Amino acid sequence: MNLYLRGHDYRYAVEQTMMVLFPGQLPRYPQGEPDGSSPSALVCLERSGDSLTARATLWWENRRYAASHTAALAACADELARRRMEQRTVRLAFYDAGVQALGVQPPWGALTGVRPVKLPTRILASGACPQQAEELLTREYRVSHDRARLATTCAQTALDVRQSLGRDELSLYLGIPFCPTRCAYCSFISSDVRGALALVEPYVDALCREIALAGEKLAAAGLSISTAYMGGGTPTTLSPSQLDRVLSAVERRLPMGRCREFTVEAGRPDTITEDKLKVLRDHGVQRISINPQTMEDRVLRAMGRAHTAGQIRQAMELARAHFGGLVNMDLIAGLPGDDPAGFTRTLEEVLAMAPANITVHTLALKKGAQLKREQGALCTPDSVSDMLLAARGRLSAAGYQPYYLYRQKYMSGSFENVGWCLPGTRCDYNVIMMEELQTVLSLGAGGITKLVDPDTGKIVRLSNPKYPKEYLESADKLTAHMGKAVCFQQQLAQQR
Ligand code: SF4
Repeated sequence: MNLYLRGHDYRYAVEQTMMVLFPGQLPRYPQGEPDGSSPSALVCLERSGDSLTARATLWWENRRYAASHTAALAACADELARRRMEQRTVRLAFYDAGVQALGVQPPWGALTGVRPVKLPTRILASGACPQQAEELLTREYRVSHDRARLATTCAQTALDVRQSLGRDELSLYLGIPFCPTRCAYCSFISSDVRGALALVEPYVDALCREIALAGEKLAAAGLSISTAYMGGGTPTTLSPSQLDRVLSAVERRLPMGRCREFTVEAGRPDTITEDKLKVLRDHGVQRISINPQTMEDRVLRAMGRAHTAGQIRQAMELARAHFGGLVNMDLIAGLPGDDPAGFTRTLEEVLAMAPANITVHTLALKKGAQLKREQGALCTPDSVSDMLLAARGRLSAAGYQPYYLYRQKYMSGSFENVGWCLPGTRCDYNVIMMEELQTVLSLGAGGITKLVDPDTGKIVRLSNPKYPKEYLESADKLTAHMGKAVCFQQQLAQQR
């Protein structure tokens, strides 16, 4: 789509809106004036005294559409607020013209970005009630009523978690970037363990050394771990003795005394054994995640999973014996070859297993996913919408509540991923991560250490090496990241 901006340079806001409304279009910035012969948008911003007006003219499928949006600058306390207001005004004018052209409203309206809960969290924190937050989302950002309610419900949880966090604590992420085989939709950095077998032992050694060093630095700074999460990859790809070594290092070396929650991703049922679950439980892990994605065997086969739905049931039985119901199960709506009837069957099967948490994802095809190259039987946005609607209805009826959500780029139909939990079983780490409520120290490959200043909302990201081999060669870089995170959090704790 040809984009012509006049009176501003809010390219990012315009491009993001274009991607929401016209996902197949790429932005171009030609010289001159639009002639309407190809998809184009002219987005102008005028300032007059305290008032702002954005006008958008859109040429789409040989027709012309126009919309405008006006806002007052008087309420903007500073330069940042003024720029935010200008961007929102530009975005809304373009969005309204686009909706006229398409005749449909995307579920998240003009709200772009992967963390739609941050906005209602800010609104609630400023003293508004949930109803006011919902109204603002629907009125000012064109968010549908059901999504506004969903986001506001999650924002209330985020505030609750935020209030429970100490400044002398941080969360911990441990990365195990190995899986038994690679799934077709995978865009993570996980290595198929069959090809990376020789790296697993050295990786475990290096991770144990990194854990020991982190323990020394955290103890010296008087900091503790509040929540811990071991993900990847599939950590249960490791053998029982390798898991035992990593978890023993965590238990002995890290300040885990105040850790309220320790979760391990046991995503693939073909990696779960009695021995491994016992090791996890014996080292204080309280919850695991088993991720069937679907209970339809043909869909599992199509996405390259080397296990059946029957194995998922067996894994869940084992998990129940060790962790009670404190298990999360991930599902994906929109998998190739699936349909609303298949997804509903999956939902019923998973509900029958009664995990404490169920996370409903929408298929996202990022760069690197094999499926992206083989897009054939992808579900339509309408059928994904039906699946998500079915999930909301059934999960609510079964007593689950939404507690965190996020969106991804390249997501089917511009929907969302939602974590649901039975009362009293939410996973705080997920909320902390998604809402960026607390510093997270990432050890191992593939993670990102995030330094979160809860007072200003400023976040600094320090990426760990992505791949096991690169990780094994990067001890200095990791030590530097660790030092920065510990120093940052120590200063924050001293500002109490
Ligand atoms: S289990 Fe997860 S990380 Fe591993 S290959 Fe499949 S999608 Fe990727």
